[in-house]
Amino acid sequence: MNVYDSARMADVLAPLGYGLVDEAAAADMIILNTCHIREKAAEKVYSDLGRVRQLKAAKEKTGGRMIVAVAGCVAQAEGAEILARAPFVDMVFGPQTYHRLPEMVARAHRSGDKVLDTDFPTEPKFDFLPGQASPARAAGAGAAFLTVQEGCDKFCTFCVVPYTRGAEYSRPVAGVVAEAERLAALGAREITLLGQNVNNYHGDGPGGGAWGLGRLIAEIAGIDGVERIRYTTSYPADMDDELIAAHRDVAKLMPFLHLPAQSGSDRVLKAMNRRHTADDYRRLAERLRRARPDIGLASDFIVGFPGETEADFADTLGLIDDVGFVQAYSFKYSPRPGTPAAAIADQIADPVKDERLALLQEKINVRQRAFNRDCVGRVMAVLFDRAGRAPGQLVGRSPYMQAVHADAPATALGTIRRLRVTAGLANSLAGELVADAAAGERGSA
Ligand code: SF4
Repeated sequence: MNVYDSARMADVLAPLGYGLVDEAAAADMIILNTCHIREKAAEKVYSDLGRVRQLKAAKEKTGGRMIVAVAGCVAQAEGAEILARAPFVDMVFGPQTYHRLPEMVARAHRSGDKVLDTDFPTEPKFDFLPGQASPARAAGAGAAFLTVQEGCDKFCTFCVVPYTRGAEYSRPVAGVVAEAERLAALGAREITLLGQNVNNYHGDGPGGGAWGLGRLIAEIAGIDGVERIRYTTSYPADMDDELIAAHRDVAKLMPFLHLPAQSGSDRVLKAMNRRHTADDYRRLAERLRRARPDIGLASDFIVGFPGETEADFADTLGLIDDVGFVQAYSFKYSPRPGTPAAAIADQIADPVKDERLALLQEKINVRQRAFNRDCVGRVMAVLFDRAGRAPGQLVGRSPYMQAVHADAPATALGTIRRLRVTAGLANSLAGELVADAAAGERGSA
């Protein structure tokens, strides 16, 4: 979502004459768009700011001017503290106010005032963002993000998002569809719909009444040029029948779903304030597979949540065995200041967390390697989205989000091509182009 927000900031700033530069030292403005999810997020931002301070000082020495801004969730959480600890920073603003960038820049320029804007405004920022996309967004080589929902009311006890991104908000359907059409016209073949709780999308429909995500996906699938649709990140308890049916009925919806389980222990899930049990998750996985038999499921797991016992951890490994994830992100629990879980007394010792994480990752890796190997010989539709390291090579994404390397002409960048998979490696695939027809088949072929 920060990638999307950064692109939208570029859209907002383009009419003021700002464009992207390759070297930070050459910039008239540097915006650090920060994420609060990672561990010690604030300290990392202050350390980055140390480097930015030197760039600003060097620019001023030659008579230039540089505006320094901190945006995003660390800005939201730290607020005025950033201006106190890093007085050379000109602007601090949270994820919900960047549509006000033109006035902030004007204030910073006009009076040299420090700008602090960490409101959760009543006006949705999307109403104020420009209709036109700046060249920054057009450069996405065939894939684009589109935020349809923001914020979260779930308050999982380990998570800062409800405090930094604010309450759940869904954009109206018309604005989302218009943006998807613009992205398709700019060359986006794949659109990933974003939201912290994207599957709880309930945007106002054109004829009144709220639309769910399944209906929105079907609408976007009707846009010329859009060949692939994904959505992330989903909350298991919010998967409704309409969305599951979309996996059956909408061929452009990719057969891959990131659906974070977090744990396989009901006791831990309860302590996390998740609203599903391990069996709920198993049933959900079955329903999704009935709707789309070739779907690949991915998850996030937190190991070493406060109070997690060996038996709890064994339940998580059991869930992994039962569901058969094709990919997972796994993390050691680490406390986030201000969240309820950080205050739980029964924190797990680091060596225990390390051991559990290694076991869990090995289990996931075995499965991921087997899945990649099973892809060998298959013909897949791959969206080439970047140049490879070797000359003449491009890298793309399979329907299952695997990185795929292949020799391909530069003209294939930003297009979907059919590839035969020739090797399944630990973290990627290798393939060769099949004929020259663009792939329009159902996802995984
Ligand atoms: S549902 Fe996701 S974003 Fe919301 S509190 Fe839980 S982990 Fe955080």
